Amino acid sequence: MKQYSLITTILYIIGPVLIIVSHFGSLLVFMTGLSWGAIAWIAISYLIRMLATTGIYHRLLTHKSYQAPAPLLWIGSIVAASAGQMGPSWWKAHHMAHHQYSDQALDPHSPYTPAQGIKGFYWAQGGWLLSPHFFPAKLPSDVENDLVLKVIDRLHFVPVVTLGVLSYFMGGLEYLGAFFLSTTLLFHGVQTVNSLSHLWGERPFITNDHSRNSGLVAFLTLGEGWHNLHHAFQSSSRHGITVRDGQIVYLPDPTFSFIKLLEFLKLASKLRLPSEKDLLAKANNQNLYSNASFD
Ligand SMILES: [Zn+2]
Ligand SMILES: [Zn+2]
Repeated sequence: MKQYSLITTILYIIGPVLIIVSHFGSLLVFMTGLSWGAIAWIAISYLIRMLATTGIYHRLLTHKSYQAPAPLLWIGSIVAASAGQMGPSWWKAHHMAHHQYSDQALDPHSPYTPAQGIKGFYWAQGGWLLSPHFFPAKLPSDVENDLVLKVIDRLHFVPVVTLGVLSYFMGGLEYLGAFFLSTTLLFHGVQTVNSLSHLWGERPFITNDHSRNSGLVAFLTLGEGWHNLHHAFQSSSRHGITVRDGQIVYLPDPTFSFIKLLEFLKLASKLRLPSEKDLLAKANNQNLYSNASFD
């Protein structure tokens, strides 16, 4: 049984509705065409919102891989909510369940369960949001006890709608279409972590799930595609680390660079990183590259 109210349930449903609207709204660009300014708007609004999702929702709010002042978490969460991918309580609830039950029956978005193959891919890439699994069983108490985060969570749709209205005032239907396209690309970019990063790529570390390191997903998600490292060392602020031939190798991780910038600006501290000893102890010496077999 869900541990939150009917009004919260209703407010949550606005999320997937906006994502569906965003998919159809993207078609506007075929009517308006895209100027260079609108293309730049797609890229900038993608990058900033992706960074807030990865650097704030994922690495700060959910995994506490570094410490930051509360206002940074609040502002970052508003920016992350403007991606249209729900608020901080909802987000953390599902992500904690993903780590607790990775690729098992209670994982909310595994490409291996409840379906496999192309159906499993569809499920992990967004199908799960259109099912009862969309509603988290329990909301995280630390987020719920922070009144600001709780308000952002319930009013998650306000930042994304505001950004849409702003886009319209910036450049009419062309910029509104650009906003929808950026939001749709961003949605699918984030979901590739759930789908592709559990299907294809290297497994340099030993974990009890199907998590993989994918350069393509890391490119799309500013470093989150180094997902096998993340499952092996969940509280690491840096995901771009692998082991090759017994040597530790660092990989491009723009989200970690962003966190280092925050640290330089005195807005982040106590960055958590695995020791070399721990990295080598979990290194997978065989089966470096293994694709999903669906059996
Ligand atoms: Zn995962
Ligand atoms: Zn995680």
